[in-house]
Amino acid sequence: MILVCGGAGYIGSITAHQLQADRFDVVVLDNLQKGHRAAVRDLPFYEGDLHDDALLDRIFTDHPIEAVVHFAANSLVGESVENPLDYYDNNVAATMHLLQAMVRHNVFRIVFSSTAAVYGEPEQIPILEDARHAPESPYGETKLAIERMLFWCDRAYGVRSVCLRYFNAAGALLDGSLGEDHAPESHLIPILLQTALGKRAQVSLFGDDYPTPDGTCIRDYIHVLDLADAHILALRHLLADGESRRYNLGSGTGYSVLELLTLAREITEREIPAEVAPRRAGDPAILVASSDAIHKELGWTPRYALRDILESAWAWHSTHPDGYQ
Ligand code: UDP
Repeated sequence: MILVCGGAGYIGSITAHQLQADRFDVVVLDNLQKGHRAAVRDLPFYEGDLHDDALLDRIFTDHPIEAVVHFAANSLVGESVENPLDYYDNNVAATMHLLQAMVRHNVFRIVFSSTAAVYGEPEQIPILEDARHAPESPYGETKLAIERMLFWCDRAYGVRSVCLRYFNAAGALLDGSLGEDHAPESHLIPILLQTALGKRAQVSLFGDDYPTPDGTCIRDYIHVLDLADAHILALRHLLADGESRRYNLGSGTGYSVLELLTLAREITEREIPAEVAPRRAGDPAILVASSDAIHKELGWTPRYALRDILESAWAWHSTHPDGYQ
């Protein structure tokens, strides 16, 4: 049995669904602060918080948990700068409670959602796992702190972990039935598609004077189904008594904000009004991952291209204009 923490959120719900499709027994825990009950279908579900030791004891007692896949976190860079203590509490402290419960109940395997934000402004592109770690926000800082906590928990207690550093997660289940629903929404692809649907008047393009070919930022977009595959491979690695690892998850290819706008217009066949706006604080010009390590060691290869990402996201947004509501 696999415990998925944060399994009602965007990446967590889709990974839980894929785990179930892969014949894992799954139980989901989510406090529904950001997650959606409707995103968890046909799986045992606990509503509650990782700070709740009694609830964790109950889950670990009631189910033969072999491993944890841990998505539960606050994940907005800007918000983390405004409220760093919330991020230390909901990310670092909550994960500490989870790890304490795991050790109490002799569960020694965890796959952890980390982020490209642990690197900060990169010195080299593509970014390798051993690049400089210089987070520029409490969000990145708390994810890095958890990676370090996991490192020491491996040494002390034998907790084996795989930390997966996501680049730009995007897309939806191909049938459009599970997808991204954040409030407020800050990510480019949902904003482009909500504008295509007329739910927003226009898209602001944050900066067109970056040192990139068209002046807009370049990012590495990775399909959420490819992320789910990586979690399953990481889990199998740990269940086969593999050692702790940390891996980037990206496609290795960067696309600019303007390239995304153009492709979104083509796929939706809608106008998508857009105008150039000032740069957003803290956005590096280019973020592109090298995912060679997980490819070589676990055999992970992304299956989906940018067009698949946008098409699946459009299948979700056009059928769920108000998300899970
Ligand atoms: N972006 C933009 N307009 C928006 C939202 C995002 O121009 O309304 C840009 C943002 O500056 C970045 C890229 O789109 O260069 C991806 O941003 P997103 O927030 O989706 O992901 P991030 O790279 O911050 O993780």
